[in-house]
Amino acid sequence: MNARHTADPESLFQRHRAVLPDWLALYYDRPLEITHGEGRHVWDGEGNRYLDFFGGILTTMTAHALPEVTKAVSEQAGRILHSSTLYLDRPMVELAERIAALSGIPDARVFFTTSGTEANDTALLLATTYRRSNQILALRNSYHGRSFSAVGITGNRSWSPTSLSPLQTLYVHGGVRTRGPYAALDDAEFIDACTADLVDMLGQTGGDVAALIAEPVQGVGGFTSPPDGLFAAFREVLREHGILWISDEVQTGWGRTGEHFWGWQAHDQAGPPDMLTFAKGIGNGMSIGGVVARAEVMNCLPANSISTFGGSPVTMAAGNANLNYLLEHDLQGNARRVGGLLLERLRAVSAGLGVVREVRGRGLMAGVELVEPHSGAPSLRAASLVLEAARERGLLIGKGGGHATASVLRIAPPLSLTVAEAEEGAEILEQALR
Ligand code: PLP
Repeated sequence: MNARHTADPESLFQRHRAVLPDWLALYYDRPLEITHGEGRHVWDGEGNRYLDFFGGILTTMTAHALPEVTKAVSEQAGRILHSSTLYLDRPMVELAERIAALSGIPDARVFFTTSGTEANDTALLLATTYRRSNQILALRNSYHGRSFSAVGITGNRSWSPTSLSPLQTLYVHGGVRTRGPYAALDDAEFIDACTADLVDMLGQTGGDVAALIAEPVQGVGGFTSPPDGLFAAFREVLREHGILWISDEVQTGWGRTGEHFWGWQAHDQAGPPDMLTFAKGIGNGMSIGGVVARAEVMNCLPANSISTFGGSPVTMAAGNANLNYLLEHDLQGNARRVGGLLLERLRAVSAGLGVVREVRGRGLMAGVELVEPHSGAPSLRAASLVLEAARERGLLIGKGGGHATASVLRIAPPLSLTVAEAEEGAEILEQALR
C-alpha cells in the first residue's frame, strides 16, 4: 500500500494543543500521526512503517484494515448508515444472539452502547436499580472509563482527578476500607489479602452493596492479574449477600488472554458473572460497547431505555464480520500460542536487565514493569525512553495509566500476530531496553 504523505506533524501538533486537551504528551516527545494500517502494521504521514504492539489501545482485535470488516462496513454504509433503534435491525439481533451465547451467562440479554464507559455506566445503573443500593465495590488501580459514575469507580486518582461521582464507592485494599471517591487513595499493588478485606468490608456495611465491579486483568493498571481463585473466593461471599458481580471485559474479552474467551473464565470456579461489559475489540476499531446481563437484571432497564447510536447498523456489521474472522481463524488459540512465545521472549530479553522488575501477562496482553535499577522505584522515565527508542526502531507499544503504572510497558498487538512478528517485536524491545 502506498504511504499517504501528510504535512509536517509538528504543525498539526500545535493545532491539536490549541483546541484539544493535551494528552499526547503522555506518550511521545515528538508527535506521531498515523495515517493508515494493514495487518499488524501502521504507517505515519512520512511513510515510516511500524509494527503495532498496542493495536489502537486494544481496539484492533483482529488486524488493521481487515478486508472482511472493511467490506461489511462499506456495504452497510452503502445501504443505510442509521435508521432508528425503534425499528427491527437484523445485524443487531444477530450479534446480540451470538454474544449472549458466547457470554456464558444463563438467560442472557444484551444492551449495546457506543463505548466501554457507557457499558459500565449501564451495568451500574442496572445493579443499583436491581439491588436498590448505590454502593459499589471496586478494586484499587481499576479503570472503568470517564463518565461521572465510571470515574467514581476508578481506583487511582491520577487517572480521574474529579470526585463528583454520585455513587458511593468502597475500595477493597489491605484491610482498609476507604469510602470513595478518592478518600485516602495512593498507588498500591493490586489487592492481596482480598477475600478477608471483602468479608471485613461487608461486615461493616451490613452487606448493603449493589455490586462488585472488577477487571479480570487490570488494563490501564498495568496488565496485572489477580491471584488465581480470587474471584471464586469473592463470589462465595458476594452470593451470601446477594451482591452482583460485574466483570469488566473491555480489555480482556474475545480471547485476548489466550486460555479463555473471557477474562472471568480464568477464575471459572466462580461461575459466570451476573453481568459482563465489553467494548473495544469487537468492532475492530468501530465505536461499540455493551452489557450482557441475566434477564432478571436486564429487565430493570426502563422500557424506553434506548441508545441512539448504541447498536448502530454499521458497528453491528463490523462486529459480526470481525467475530466471524476471530472464530474461524481461532485467534484465541493464536493469542495463547503466539502470546506464550512472546512472553517467553520478553522474559528472555529482559533477564539480567536491572531496569526490568517483572514481565507478566496472559495471552497477547503483556506488561513489562520498569524500575530505577538502583532504588527499585517505578521508573516513568525509563518507560518514556523505551517507548521512544522502540518507536525509532519501528515498534509502537503502550504504557500504563499514570503514577506507578505509567512505568509498565503495555503490549497488546492484534490477535492475528505471527510468530515472526512476535520475534521481531521482542528483538526491537530488547534493543530499546538496552
Ligand atoms: N473499562 C476498561 C477495562 C477499559 O480499559 C476502558 C478503556 O480503556 C474502559 C472501560 C472505557 O472504555 P471506553 O474508552 O471505550 O469508554
